[in-house]
Amino acid sequence: MWLRLLLLLAFLLPWTAAPVAWAGAIHSTEPADVAALRNDRAHTAESLLAQLDAWGKTAPTPLAAGWAKLAMGEFADELEQPERAYALLNEAVAVAASERADDLAVAANSRLASMYANRGDANRASTVLQTLEAIARHSGRKDWMALWAYNRGVLERKLGRFPDAIRYFEQSVADARDGGNHAQQARSLNAVGLVLSRTGQFADALARHNEALELAQAAQDASEIARTFRMLGFLHRNLDDEELAAQNIREALKHLGPRDVREGIALRGELSRSLLKMGQVEEAARFGEEASEAAMSLGSPPNKVNSFTALSDVRLAQGRIDDADLWSRRAAEQFNTVAIRDQVQIHANRASVARARGDVKTALSEARATVDGARKLGDKVLERSALDALSDIELAAGDAMAAMATRKAFQQLDKTLAIDVAGRRVAILEGNLATQRSESQRALLARDNQIQSLRIARQRLLGIALIVGFCALAIFAFVLFRRYRETQRLHAALIASAGELERVARTDALTGVSNRGAVTEQFEQLLAETQAGQRPLAVLLIDIDHFKRINDHHGHLAGDAVLRDAAQRMRAALPDTARFGRWGGEEFIAVLPDIAPLQAEQVAERVRQAIAANPFRFEEHAIAVSISIGVAAAPRPERRGIDRLIATADAALYRAKNAGRNRVEVG
Ligand code: GH3
Ligand code: MG
Ligand code: MG
Repeated sequence: MWLRLLLLLAFLLPWTAAPVAWAGAIHSTEPADVAALRNDRAHTAESLLAQLDAWGKTAPTPLAAGWAKLAMGEFADELEQPERAYALLNEAVAVAASERADDLAVAANSRLASMYANRGDANRASTVLQTLEAIARHSGRKDWMALWAYNRGVLERKLGRFPDAIRYFEQSVADARDGGNHAQQARSLNAVGLVLSRTGQFADALARHNEALELAQAAQDASEIARTFRMLGFLHRNLDDEELAAQNIREALKHLGPRDVREGIALRGELSRSLLKMGQVEEAARFGEEASEAAMSLGSPPNKVNSFTALSDVRLAQGRIDDADLWSRRAAEQFNTVAIRDQVQIHANRASVARARGDVKTALSEARATVDGARKLGDKVLERSALDALSDIELAAGDAMAAMATRKAFQQLDKTLAIDVAGRRVAILEGNLATQRSESQRALLARDNQIQSLRIARQRLLGIALIVGFCALAIFAFVLFRRYRETQRLHAALIASAGELERVARTDALTGVSNRGAVTEQFEQLLAETQAGQRPLAVLLIDIDHFKRINDHHGHLAGDAVLRDAAQRMRAALPDTARFGRWGGEEFIAVLPDIAPLQAEQVAERVRQAIAANPFRFEEHAIAVSISIGVAAAPRPERRGIDRLIATADAALYRAKNAGRNRVEVG
């Protein structure tokens, strides 16, 4: 039994343990020290980079040194040192090739691909992605495929090919899920959501971000949680809900660590923008200042543009035009190193500052550039505010006609936007409703299943209880039956033994005939019966002659044998109706009912002859035995009673003895 169970377990174990074993079986060539530093979210990128630099110098193997280069390259990228990062990552790629370490090649190429794509170098990004794809496909590893597809999606998105981007991101989501990498799954879901949001599919976007949030929270990936909230913030800004946008951005800020410097700058810049729109100028200023300060030293070019223009806008609202101009110029310095979206932001800010300074000409050209840029981007919200600003500036420039036309365009756009935004909100509500409905349906189904399984379990329990109860009852009944049978048997035995006891109590042990007590009882009974019916009765008192001599001559045993045989012969000679027993010693008694005195004497004579006719045999001896009999015949026995009858018989017996023995005397 146990052996079989063990065998079964041994058979099942490899299957149940399979996913774990698979994950563990993917051997990583990354040194644990490097992995720990790469995953460290508690320290700044600078301090981690310095530690890695020191570690790499005494790395135990060239491969370990290659991993250190990779990590340093990643940190250099985080610290906005792209040239240093490219050099380090390419060194890591070279080590991966010479050491044939695919995992290192995947990590390094993945980072290179994202850096090239983010910096607009599509050609290099494509080349690196091809290498990454080849390694991932060859390995058959789903998590590597997910990483490749994600990076490929990022490149497609940067190139403005949104449907392709979504396709790659969706593939990455599926592969990450199959590969069990929840953090990557969340990241790719957020990427899908971002593109959906940019193409106006807000309800779908919201669903992806919410799903990503759950996964990131389950994976405890603080950076991805922060990214998700940022994207949710942008989504709400697109729906003209600045309040919700600000709430989500604040939530995102809570999840940042010391390494999320660029994310922190971007979030503070965006929060500053939201707060300004909501009229909370002081708080907007605080976040704008924080963002700009950090961006000055550590920010990427887009970081700088976002935070500097945000702070510049705040300063304008505060009436600090010189300060506004200063931050505006600082932002403009980045113009050639940022993408068109950030360039539009610079134009818009320059227009506002120039307008405030009274430089109408510059304001006009910057405002027009803003409108053009916003149209190129297809960002209607941005275009609307740009048109608003432009019409004001045109009016200030004295071009009322142009101002009228621009205002008309603004109003038209405002109307369509209002309808559009309303439509988007309805879509989101519908999406939420659909999600809620499907969730409640799922919950209902789950509850139904639960109820069903409970019902089955209850029925099973009931069945078991019934069987157990039945078995218990059967056992109980069986035990009871056995007890009953046993009692019956004991009872029968008791009755039998009582009967036996009575029989023994009434029988003479030596001769097997009734003893004195029994024969007396029978005598009394007979007397009672005969008294009622007036029937005659006779008593024969029988004594063996000279029995003492038999004992003396042949021994006590011979005497016993003679007693036994004599009793049998006498019994046989008596009629069946006679009561017969041993009276004591070598004396016997017979009571004969319904008998006349003469007949009684004849019976006595027959008994005497039965003894005397043939000698008794004991061993080789033949022992001649005779008996004397005294008869008391009573035609009306009721008058006499037992004692007198016996006394009469005894007297007759005495006479027989005296008359020479071996004879019958009637009293
Ligand atoms: P009588 O002719 O005058 O009757 O002479 P008796 O010897 O038969 O009479 P007695 O009364 O003098 O002796 C009876 C003897 O019977 C004495 C006793 O030892 C013997 N006896 C009584 N019961 C038993 C018995 O159960 N087994 C044996 N072997 N002897 C017995
Ligand atoms: Mg005697
Ligand atoms: Mg005798």
